[in-house]
Amino acid sequence: MDIYSASVAAYLVAALLFVLALAGLSRHESAKLGNYFGILGMAIALVATVALAIDTDIESVGLVLLLVAVALGAVIGLQLARTVEMTGMPELIALLHSFVGLAAVLVGWNGYLHIEHHPDGVDAVVLEAAGLLGIHSAEVFIGIFIGGVTFTGSIVANLKLSARMKSAPLMLPGKNLINIGCLVLFLALTVWFVVDPQLWLLVVVTILALALGWHLVASIGGGDMPVVVSMLNSYSGWAAAASGFLLNNNLLIIVGALVGSSGAYLSYIMCAAMNRSFISVIAGGFGLEAGPGDAKDYGEHREIQAAGVAELLERASSVVITPGYGMAVAQAQYPVADLTAKLRAKGVDVRFGIHPVAGRLPGHMNVLLAEAKVPYDIVLEMDEINGDFGDTDVVLVIGANDTVNPSAAEDPASPIAGMPVLEVWNAHDVVVFKRSMAAGYAGVQNPLFFRDNSQMLFGDAKDRVEDIVRALG
Ligand code: NDP
Repeated sequence: MDIYSASVAAYLVAALLFVLALAGLSRHESAKLGNYFGILGMAIALVATVALAIDTDIESVGLVLLLVAVALGAVIGLQLARTVEMTGMPELIALLHSFVGLAAVLVGWNGYLHIEHHPDGVDAVVLEAAGLLGIHSAEVFIGIFIGGVTFTGSIVANLKLSARMKSAPLMLPGKNLINIGCLVLFLALTVWFVVDPQLWLLVVVTILALALGWHLVASIGGGDMPVVVSMLNSYSGWAAAASGFLLNNNLLIIVGALVGSSGAYLSYIMCAAMNRSFISVIAGGFGLEAGPGDAKDYGEHREIQAAGVAELLERASSVVITPGYGMAVAQAQYPVADLTAKLRAKGVDVRFGIHPVAGRLPGHMNVLLAEAKVPYDIVLEMDEINGDFGDTDVVLVIGANDTVNPSAAEDPASPIAGMPVLEVWNAHDVVVFKRSMAAGYAGVQNPLFFRDNSQMLFGDAKDRVEDIVRALG
């Protein structure tokens, strides 16, 4: 078998491994195995790509550049993976999406400079003779557009998630019209470019895509960022697929399509979980957040100490823990796991209720709890547990806020109205762990804190849970 055929076969194996990786990642129990499949697939893909490059007589300087880039990327990637905190994961992912977008823009430009810019060159003449030049031009144009939108959109998502940019939505007048206008302009320019592939058109579409990506994500409020991150994941997949067509690389097309469609599907599931419309996300047309102050008077909140919570728990026969972003910040999952084990040893029925967007990443809480070795079978999804709160003695809300906010269910005027939430207020007693009375991520006041059956346990979640574990003896 020659190197070309071997590489094509290796690409097929890698593609299958990526499918297995996705299948593995969809369940707690098999997630680790899924990761290994992905690593193996990527290793095979890299080796096959380098072999293919050598086979196609790559110049030695090109080969050196390729190997240096792979080595450099590996070193930086390993370092980032080792040092990133779980709480910093979404912004890192957003940053990585921006690289895919930038790569797609560069591949598109390279395709143009190689083919359309040299209409008398061998490759251009061959494509022209086969009647494929127009298709190539369309691939260049569309690849650059999707890549550009992904690039700046992901940078804005990174800046918002890392709080280096205000998370409130940018409200330019007629923002939906701007987005739709950009899309219509893009379609018209694509037709123009296919008919007459001029350099200035490429410059215009690059600027248009960069501006649209920025505006699209800037006009979405922080509370809706989970959907945006997942959408950008999808865009980065389509950008990679577009590059695959340009580079004639089947694996890139397959992987791009896998990432693109799984990202789109995840966005759809999340939209459904937050009661949002998928189309309005694509148009960047929602995400209104609450103003700085919610003037409504909710009354007084009650405070409780760790010893008091320990007493409540001693008397309880059923306890549900609903963790949120604060548990991740405090790294409280380990004492939470200790507390769970202790209560279970006393015969208390302890379960976890996980909101689909608790934390800052889908699955954020599941990963933390798995890390602390909380048994999977007591970690339930929101829909599985929402009906059980009425029969629950004590709910411990550990660093969650928006995801347990009753106004989402009860106040149609609330900025998060319609978002399904964990109905913790139906339990007999609710203890909310947080450091202050500050609002959650969406900036909305939470009436739960002022309910008669709610008590606040102030302080760092890790310290307070440790206090309770000690008090339980
Ligand atoms: P929130 O972000 O609404 O609230 C977190 C709470 O944790 C805050 O009220 C904060 O209060 C408290 N907290 C922070 N640090 C600590 C600490 N060290 N100890 C104790 N408490 C702490 O959390 P939720 O998980 O309920 O909601 C997630 C929000 O994030 C939603 O609005 C969601 O839409 C959004 N989002 C979700 C993403 C996802 O994919 N999951 C991605 C991006 C955004 P205080 O400061 O007073 O301590």
